[in-house]
Amino acid sequence: MNFYDVLAKAKAGTNLSVSELQILLDAPDVNAEKELLAAGYAVKKEYCGNVVNLRGLIEFSNICSRDCFYCGIRKSMRTVSRYRMSMEEITAAARLAGEYGYGSVVLQSGERSDREFVDFVTGVLREIKKLPCQLGITLSCGEQTMDTYLRWREAGATRYLLRIESSNPEIFARIHPPECSFSERLEALVRLKAADYQVGTGVMTGLPGQSTADLAEDVKFFQEIDADMIGMGPYLPQEHTPLGQANPDAPGAAMKRLELTLRMIAVTRLLLRDVNIAATTALQAIDPAGGRERGIMAGANVIMPNVGDTGRRRDYQLYNGKPDLDENAPEVRLKLLESLAKIGEIPRFNEPGDPLHYQVRTRKNEKI
Ligand code: SF4
Repeated sequence: MNFYDVLAKAKAGTNLSVSELQILLDAPDVNAEKELLAAGYAVKKEYCGNVVNLRGLIEFSNICSRDCFYCGIRKSMRTVSRYRMSMEEITAAARLAGEYGYGSVVLQSGERSDREFVDFVTGVLREIKKLPCQLGITLSCGEQTMDTYLRWREAGATRYLLRIESSNPEIFARIHPPECSFSERLEALVRLKAADYQVGTGVMTGLPGQSTADLAEDVKFFQEIDADMIGMGPYLPQEHTPLGQANPDAPGAAMKRLELTLRMIAVTRLLLRDVNIAATTALQAIDPAGGRERGIMAGANVIMPNVGDTGRRRDYQLYNGKPDLDENAPEVRLKLLESLAKIGEIPRFNEPGDPLHYQVRTRKNEKI
């Protein structure tokens, strides 16, 4: 089957096989790629409208007990100055997100599962829920026990992001130390579903040794676990990590990964239709002038401006070139609104912006 036959099937909403997904990802030329991205955007408009959900991102701690080979805040990284925002600082950042009308916050940190951390996050969630702005809360704090997921759910979190990074166990094993298990990651995703979260996952695109066949399997994986939210970013090497040191970047490689990520966004939108897909900061790192907007135009519908303290941002450098722009500055917020308006998109204010997919699947389960 050729590219355009598969694209026609995808536009019609037909379920695609892994090999068909790969044909789309391997768009044969620039025109085919353009048509793929336009098709992704058309489905985004059909299911999500010309609306973008905004989430205030709060990177509240860079202390991590893990040692992922690609990550700039891995525990072995001695040069990173470690921090954890106080309860008051996090609540103030959440209040600010509410004042900006973002409707939701994402609380992200390195992974810890000790008692003190679990209690701290529980307290933070309770404090944010007391704010008058009624924010939706997404957590991104790694693998946890069922008890912890349930506690945090009860305390007010409704969404959880836990990226698989690659659904190919061999690639997963190459980019993580042995103590980080692929099967445990899968089990954590199952626990999140059982704890009634809106579940988000995602992968890095353009990892060393990763093919478009692997990425097609990743998109199928999102479908199979029935994910509600997807966050994908181009792999960006961090020069002081084991993966970054072993695979120095060739000139132009980052731009190729950005283009691959846009194709992944479009293909994921074409297959999954009603999920939330984030236009991640990593897109902006490669194309500061319009990376996130290009993500929206390929089918993404969520942007996460950072509402944390800019001073802390240089200590949360997961990869090289992560933007440390003050996204709280009025001119930067205005610029984002202007750039969205330029592509015909409207930001959704003062609403949590839950993924349609979660609403549909929970309604279905109620009927069973
Ligand atoms: S990717 Fe996450 S869990 Fe892994 S080292 Fe970085 S912050 Fe820690």
